[in-house]
Amino acid sequence: MSDVFEALIALASGFGTTFKHLFRRPITESYPEYKRPLPARSRARIILTRDPDGEERCVACYLCSAACPVSCISMQSTEREDGRRYAIWFRINFARCIYCGLCEEACPTSAIQLTPDYEFCERDILKMVAEKENLLVAHCGKDPEYNFYRYAGITTAGAGKGQHIKESNPVDVKSILP
Ligand code: SF4
Ligand code: SF4
Repeated sequence: MSDVFEALIALASGFGTTFKHLFRRPITESYPEYKRPLPARSRARIILTRDPDGEERCVACYLCSAACPVSCISMQSTEREDGRRYAIWFRINFARCIYCGLCEEACPTSAIQLTPDYEFCERDILKMVAEKENLLVAHCGKDPEYNFYRYAGITTAGAGKGQHIKESNPVDVKSILP
């Protein structure tokens, strides 16, 4: 008898929930008419940003490529006359990318960044391969202040070793020998 009673309570509770929702306004959002704003840290389209001086941030160190679990980043490094490195070409295969963000975590210069823009699917999978000219943007992205070469521990066109922001003078290794 108690089983029948419990079943009736469960049935009444289920119908009660249904009845309650009959009088609620639907919360359907019509896409693409309405595009829900996403947080800035959402992980979708990848860009290559510039530093505050307008220079390419990427120094073609290959760290993002090494960190990528699906091996969808490739590039070729080269150097300018002033010694500054950059990628002569840089390619991301978005058809393989799983938008994990590990490339962004690995990047020492804040060059590679994921953005909330998720609207870039293609019918032709080959069009999902993005070259440097498709990736490089004219702004600093999420990191408007950072300029790697002002903090760099190497001699650059801007300053020598130990003269960059928050940089200590190089240590004479012989002075710390036991
Ligand atoms: S988001 Fe992840 S999968 Fe996509 S390129 Fe970066 S590391 Fe590779
Ligand atoms: S995007 Fe960043 S991690 Fe990748 S090669 Fe350029 S500087 Fe290195």
